[in-house]
Amino acid sequence: MSGLGRVIFIGAGPGSADLITVRGAQRLALADVVLFDALTDPALRAYAPRARWIDVGKRGFCDSTGQATIDAMLVQHASQSAVVVRLKGGDPSVFGRLEEELAALASAGIACEVVPGVTAAIAAAADTQRPLTRRGKGRSVSLSTAMTRHGSLQGGNRADTEVFYMAGRQLGALGRQLETVGWPHNTPVNVVSRAGWPDMLASEHALGELAAASLLHAGRPTVVTVGAGATAVDPAPGLPRIQCVETHDSRASDNAMPAKPVPIAT
Ligand code: SAH
Repeated sequence: MSGLGRVIFIGAGPGSADLITVRGAQRLALADVVLFDALTDPALRAYAPRARWIDVGKRGFCDSTGQATIDAMLVQHASQSAVVVRLKGGDPSVFGRLEEELAALASAGIACEVVPGVTAAIAAAADTQRPLTRRGKGRSVSLSTAMTRHGSLQGGNRADTEVFYMAGRQLGALGRQLETVGWPHNTPVNVVSRAGWPDMLASEHALGELAAASLLHAGRPTVVTVGAGATAVDPAPGLPRIQCVETHDSRASDNAMPAKPVPIAT
């Protein structure tokens, strides 16, 4: 089909505008129209100041713009504009309804591109310095939504580290559900809300006491990491302590050598 524009799905990352990828920012600058989600940073507008920005945000249970409407809007705008950007929080492929939107555009013969972004689970691991995989004991990671399509709670026990999205309103119930599928009462849990933002909040709990996190993170987008990847990293006993020291002027050219880890005496 000729005369149609294209749609670029861009992962905005989980928080502050600077967590978008370089490619994402470059593609955003090409936009004539941007359909954006609630959890994307308004500061991203600076990358496409002349584009028309349309809020199609959805949060939690209030579906402010229904999915079918968004699908139809994408097709409609792509038939009127050269470049339509669909800006999604985190990564478009993770709980982002990308499947439906790609299918709608494919049916209309509209070309698409997907630019990945940093998903909330990864940002939470970075903010709290709790790697999702651990040598020997954390060999698998699962990303799950705690909510089914019909709004019921679903917890699993499939991986060494399980990260739950969309569980913020039901932390106590999630903890109980996870115990019933075999996670021990004292399993470590790392709860992080607004990962990637300056006001990020993190708290750690035993699974059986997860309800205590509800008030702390109320009203904020939250991911819940359970199992191997939820624990703080222990300084290794008996090994020389390693400290990063600057070996170059950080203001020097991009080609400067990165800082090297240097063992220090203990
Ligand atoms: N595509 C997004 C997820 C969208 S689903 C991604 O890849 O991150 C929305 C859920 O993501 C929220 O209910 C919450 O569980 C999680 N989430 C999104 N942004 C978050 C953030 N900054 N901090 C913690 N959780 C976040």
